[in-house]
Amino acid sequence: MTNDAAHNMSELAVELLQRLQRVLGSGRRPVPLHEPCFRGNEWVYVKECIDTAWVSSVGKFVDRFEQELAGFAGVRRAVATVNGTAALHICLKLAGVEPNDEVIIPALTFVATANAVCYCGAMPHFADSEEVTLGLDPAKLDQWLAKSARLQEGVCVNQQTGRRISALVPIHTFGHPSRLEALADVARKHQLALVEDAAESLGSYYQGRHVGHWGKVSALSFNGNKTITTGGGGAILTNDPNLADMAKHLTTTAKIPHRWKYEHDQVGYNYRLPNLNAALGCAQMEQLPAFLDSKRRLATKYREALEGLDGARFVQEPPDCVSNYWLCTLLLQPGREQELDQILEATNAAGIMTRPVWALLSSLPMYRDCPRMNLECAASLERRLINVPSSPALCL
Ligand SMILES: *Cc1c(COP(=O)(O)O)cnc(C)c1O
Repeated sequence: MTNDAAHNMSELAVELLQRLQRVLGSGRRPVPLHEPCFRGNEWVYVKECIDTAWVSSVGKFVDRFEQELAGFAGVRRAVATVNGTAALHICLKLAGVEPNDEVIIPALTFVATANAVCYCGAMPHFADSEEVTLGLDPAKLDQWLAKSARLQEGVCVNQQTGRRISALVPIHTFGHPSRLEALADVARKHQLALVEDAAESLGSYYQGRHVGHWGKVSALSFNGNKTITTGGGGAILTNDPNLADMAKHLTTTAKIPHRWKYEHDQVGYNYRLPNLNAALGCAQMEQLPAFLDSKRRLATKYREALEGLDGARFVQEPPDCVSNYWLCTLLLQPGREQELDQILEATNAAGIMTRPVWALLSSLPMYRDCPRMNLECAASLERRLINVPSSPALCL
C-alpha cells in the first residue's frame, strides 16, 4: 500500500484490520476465506475406492454417507447428489414446482437458488431479507402476499402476472437459520410449498432441531468451500420415505432397478454423487463435530475482538438458534457503506481474504425482470456485509 492510500484509509479500516490480525495471529498469509481441511480418513477411504474400482455412481460410501447425513440431521432419509444446485432442483420438482410458476426466494442469496428455480421452467420472485437473521423477513413477505397475491381454489396467484406462486425457499445465510416457524406459517397461509435451501447450514439448529425439517424436502451442499466437502456434492433431506424414494429415482436417471435391463419410466437426471466423492464425505463426517467446535471458537474470538468497535459488529447466531458459523460475518453500521471498499482493500492487501456478500440476484441481467417486492433491507445488507476467514482448521 502506498503512503497515500494508507493516509486516505478510513479509521475503521485500519482498526478493523488490526483486530482481525489479532484474531488470526501471525501465521501464513494469505489466510483464505474458507479452505477445506483433510486430517482424517480421506486418503484411506478414497484409496479403498480406487483399490476396489468402486469409483463411480454406486458404492458403499454413497450408502454410508447418506445414512450418516440423515442420522446427523435427524431426518429419516438423505439422498446424495452431485452438487447442491442439483439437490435443490430436485427438491423443487418434488415440492410440485412446475413450468411457468413463480417461486419466492430471497434476493440476497447465492445465484444457485434462483438457477434451480429456472431449471424447473419457473421464475424467481424476489423477497426482502431482515437484519437479525440475514434471511427472509416473514412479516414483510406475509404483507406483500396479502396485498399482491390471492388464493384461487387453494392456489396462490400473483395478481400482477397471473402466474401461480407455488413454493417458498428460505436460505440460512452463512449458516444462520432463518425464521423457520414464521416462514412455515406464511407458507401454510398462502398455500406455498416450503423448501429449505440449507446448502450453507449443515450443523445449524433452529429451536433445538437441525435445519431441513420445516419443509417437505431440503437441500445441502458439500462444495469445496462449505463446512464439509466432497469435492463437489449435495444432498436432499426429507422425513417422507416416498419423497426420498422419488428423489433417489429422479437423481439416478429414473431407472427401474433390474440386474441388466435398461428401463426408465420418466425423464430422469444423472445427479448421482460418485462413490469417490462420498468416500471423502464419510471421512469429513467423522470430523464434522470438531469442525463445528472450531468454527464456534473462531466466532467467539471474532466477536470478542470486535467488541466496542465503532462502525461495525460481528454477526451472531439469531435467538433460539445454533449457527454452524459457516462464514463468519461482519456488518457495518448503517451510514458506513462508503467504507466497505476500503476495508476490503486493506484486509486483502494484508493477506486476510475478506469478501462482500453476493450482488442482489434481482440486479443480475437474467433476473432483472423477475417479480419482486421492495428490497430495501437486502439492498442495505448488500453494501454492509463482509465475510472474514472462516476455515475449520483455524481453531482446531
Ligand atoms: C453453495 C450453495 C448452493 C449450491 O451448492 P453447489 O453445491 O455449489 O451447487 C445453493 N445455495 C446456496 C445458498 C449456497 O450457498
